Parts: sequence; structure tokens; C-alpha cells
Amino acid sequence: MASWLEGKVVDNRRLNEYLTSLIIDVDIGGYEAGQFVRIGLPDGDEVLARPYSLVNTPQEKHLEVYFNLVEEGPLSPRLFELRSGDNILVADNPSGFLTVSEVPECRHLWMIATGTGIGPFLSILKSEAAWQQFEKIVLCYSVSYATELAYQDIIASIRDNHGDRFRFVPVVTRESHEGALGKRVPALMQDGSLEQHAGITINAEDSHVMMCGSSAMITDVSAELMSRDMKKHRRRDPGHFTTEKYH
Ligand SMILES: Cc1cc2nc3c(=O)[nH]c(=O)nc-3n(C[C@H](O)[C@H](O)[C@H](O)COP(=O)(O)OP(=O)(O)OC[C@H]3O[C@@H](n4cnc5c(N)ncnc54)[C@H](O)[C@@H]3O)c2cc1C
Repeated sequence: MASWLEGKVVDNRRLNEYLTSLIIDVDIGGYEAGQFVRIGLPDGDEVLARPYSLVNTPQEKHLEVYFNLVEEGPLSPRLFELRSGDNILVADNPSGFLTVSEVPECRHLWMIATGTGIGPFLSILKSEAAWQQFEKIVLCYSVSYATELAYQDIIASIRDNHGDRFRFVPVVTRESHEGALGKRVPALMQDGSLEQHAGITINAEDSHVMMCGSSAMITDVSAELMSRDMKKHRRRDPGHFTTEKYH
């Protein structure tokens, strides 16, 4: 059974009125890039907690989680208001299968994120293991509005460090934005523009696809992958795609 560790908020870095990153000082022991932790606050005698993916690498000193305000939700509005020095509870059992160690051998790793689902992919891209395991990595990052394209500094430094082995495909669906594709990811797969932009194809022979974020994207992209003879990956039945649904 997990125990709660007392952490301290180091910073609350607001991107806008509904997106923020919390930086947390707490030692949760070992974990892998791409995993999540449960984060909570006291609620009477109980702890009100939800899972959040870690944006930081396991080597970094502080934990970082990136999330959006769900106005009707019980926890995210409280987390959104935390300030430097506030107490926060973090479970001591990070977990999750959205990690490169779970991916069967293949040449190309595709990462498809909607919104705050970018978090675990940044952790993986900043870590060394992925770059030892795959020839090329594509990050497709879909948001509604261009101002929601967070962490552009980190993405630029990944591009600087890995050159042609890394391809970044930004997608902005509700306004036109220079340099970004403009349709939902499943439509970009159906019309070929996602792969054209990335310069490689998604296929059962040499690709693994990780998806993180909204269930609508994950359901529709999974259907498209299945139509290409790709199947969901399970440890006991290796496949071609891995998913993490936030909502
Ligand atoms: C494994 C895992 C990892 C997660 N990691 C992250 C993360 O890194 N960042 C993040 O933003 N969220 C993440 N989530 C979602 C997160 O755990 C919470 O559900 C979310 O922050 C809302 O919490 P809440 O208590 O305010 O509302 P909840 O009671 O959790 O949800 C209220 C309603 O809002 C919906 N909802 C939940 N999350 C969202 C969202 N992001 N956008 C819109 N609607 C939503 C729920 O489906 C529900 O209908 C993750 C979920 C899972 C299962």
C-alpha cells in the first residue's frame, strides 16, 4: 500500500488562466521517465488525490507536473491555487507503462499528445534511454489554440541535441497557426499529412506509437492504427501502440 510523503511546492508556473506547472520538492525514490504519481491534498480526514504524469526526468531534483484547471473538478482547482512554500502530498509509488522499457524493439517511436498529455513525453525525450533505443522519434503535439503549445524551450533544446533524429509536429486545431498542422490528429493520419510532415511512415514493421491525453484522440487514433494491422501493446501480447488516457 502506498504511503503519503509530505512535499513542498517550489513554484507554480502559470502558462495562462487554465494551464500551469507545479514544481515540487519531495523524494519519491526511483522511477522511469514517462511514469506518473498520485498527488493529493488533505480533505477532512482523507486525502483527495489524482494521478499526474511527471514532466521531469528521474535525474532532476524536483518533480514537475503540468495540468489544466477542470473547473468542476474537486482537486485541480485547489492544486491550481498552490503557492511556493505550500504543503502537498505525493504518493511514494510512481507507476505506469508509458515508458520506453515497455516498448518492443523497433526503429521509430511516435509520441502523440493532446494538451497536457505532452508531460510524460518531455520526460522521455529529455532522458537518454529513448535515444539509445530508437533511430528516430516523432513528437506530435496537438492543442486547440497556439498559446497552449507549452514547453517550446525544452522542445527546441531536444531538437538542438538530436537534429534529424527528432521531428516535432505541432498541431493547432481551432485557429490557423504558422508552422502547425490544422486538423485533428486522426484526420492528419487519414490524409497522410502527419507522416508527410514527419518524413517517415507509421507501420507495423518499424513503428511504435505512444498516445497520451484525451480519450477521443486515443480512441480515433487507435482505430486508425488497427486499420493498419497494428494492435495495442500488452506485456503478454506485444503490439504496436501504448496509451495513457487522462480523461
Ligand atoms: C494515469 C493518469 C495520469 C494523469 N496525468 C495528468 C497530467 O499529467 N496532467 C493533467 O492535466 N491531467 C492528468 N490526469 C488527469 C488528472 O488525474 C485529473 O483527473 C484532472 O487533473 C482533474 O482532476 P479533478 O479532481 O479536478 O477532477 P476529476 O474528478 O478527476 O475529473 C472531473 C471531470 O473532468 C474530466 N477531466 C479529467 N482531467 C481532465 C483534463 N485534463 N481536461 C479536461 N477534463 C478532464 C474527468 O473525466 C471528469 O469528467 C491524469 C489521469 C490519469 C488517469
